[in-house]
Amino acid sequence: MLTFKDVSLNYGAFRALENINLHVEKGELVVLLGANGAGKSSIFRAASGLEKLSGGSIHLGGNTVSGMKPSNVVRHGLVQCPEGRKLFPQMTVLKNLMLGAYVHRGDKVENSRRLDEVMALFPILQEKAHDPAGSLSGGQQQMVAIGRALMGRPKVLCLDEPSLGLAPLVVKQVLEVVQSINQAGTTVVLAEQNAYAALKIATRAYVIERGRIVLEGDRESLMNNEAVRRAYIGA
Ligand code: ATP
Repeated sequence: MLTFKDVSLNYGAFRALENINLHVEKGELVVLLGANGAGKSSIFRAASGLEKLSGGSIHLGGNTVSGMKPSNVVRHGLVQCPEGRKLFPQMTVLKNLMLGAYVHRGDKVENSRRLDEVMALFPILQEKAHDPAGSLSGGQQQMVAIGRALMGRPKVLCLDEPSLGLAPLVVKQVLEVVQSINQAGTTVVLAEQNAYAALKIATRAYVIERGRIVLEGDRESLMNNEAVRRAYIGA
């Protein structure tokens, strides 16, 4: 479904990604583990067309998406929910959600159906639909950010640290939602600092260090990997 072939990315003279090869099959929930600055956001930004690759290519379904404009990448089905949520705090929850459907703005019937789905997934957003997004709690704002991404009609949903800065109970709720989105049929790529909680819902994971993939495996093998436990799980 999503394939990175030898992807490299430079920021000026700094090499942020070095020969990244990864693939995500339809229906998987793939987790990216790595310390701050390892390159997880760069992987998402590269996939979304927000950064120009220095080498390699990115494929989604049968299409090469590297080189496409970000809006075109969304149209092809890769939608990113960025780190830090990036909401418009003064705009209402509803307007923030509808921004996610911008590339599909001609199709009001389907957008309205999707909005109903998002409201059903996050009933609190129905209640707060006309409140400014910035007035919501951190967890609720994360729901808006995920809901907005769902309005983009993802085949592959890339979630960059959705639980960042949230209380433990809220982290659990967010990851449960991520799991249910995946179980309903959306392929998910999830960057997460909460390695243990993320691995518990993962099909597979990649470990990224200094812009390189250093390990790949299924949930069981990574959970039981001594180096992973020491570096990311702390047990
Ligand atoms: P975090 O969890 O902190 O976001 P990350 O794994 O997502 O970390 P990236 O944000 O992809 O890491 O950053 C990878 C490296 O690239 C870091 O060393 C970072 O400082 C650097 N970097 C990221 N964006 C830029 C930029 N626009 N210009 C220069 N360097 C950058």
